[in-house]
Amino acid sequence: FNYDSIKPGFDRDKLLTSMKSQLSDFRYKHCLRVEKVSRGLAAQYNVDVDKAGLAGLLHDYAKERPADEFKAAIKSHNLNRDLLNYGNGIWHGIVGAEIIKDELGIYDEDVLNAIRRHTVGSTRMTGVDKCVFIADFIEPKRDFPGVDDARKAADTSLNTGVAFELKHTIEHLVDNNRTIYPVTFESYNYWITKGE
Ligand code: GDP
Ligand code: FE
Ligand code: FE
Ligand code: FE
Repeated sequence: FNYDSIKPGFDRDKLLTSMKSQLSDFRYKHCLRVEKVSRGLAAQYNVDVDKAGLAGLLHDYAKERPADEFKAAIKSHNLNRDLLNYGNGIWHGIVGAEIIKDELGIYDEDVLNAIRRHTVGSTRMTGVDKCVFIADFIEPKRDFPGVDDARKAADTSLNTGVAFELKHTIEHLVDNNRTIYPVTFESYNYWITKGE
């Protein structure tokens, strides 16, 4: 795949080497699978395939950074201080996008937003955002109960796939007594009533 249209001269092989060195083998391969599924969804639904692919590849780029690095980035980039009350699950997308800007010089807001929104969604999700959000959930190695229904929902429409995933995620968080980031609720309320 070639991401020159997003950043001229972009070297995907160099990025892969860097990701391989800073991510566990499982996470690295997950990112490659999400890139591929995200591109497939984008092609199926007439979304920008390269933006969906690059955002899919990078979505978990910062996932294995230490908490201190995220906390420092929240402060240096002047992000909402409420973020400090959450953890890696929320940070690696929202704060990870800032780390990606700093380290990789990728400034395409469509790509960055899809990374920011890949865990908690948004009421304003674009086609690129939806492809990455769903691809992360249904990539071939995902095997939780309900993943086949999630794949069917994604094949019905992007909106159906997003709504299914938000409902499933909130159910799972509640079952495990986890705190829910307010944006996750806002996303759920919006997409569960949106229809196909
Ligand atoms: P991954 O990075 O490929 O593992 O997948 P995600 O980025 O989609 O999710 C990361 C983690 O954040 C998962 O454990 C989710 O269950 C969790 N998560 C998603 N939404 C919320 C939320 O609103 N609150 C909290 N505390 N965790 C969440
Ligand atoms: Fe993630
Ligand atoms: Fe996700
Ligand atoms: Fe992921």
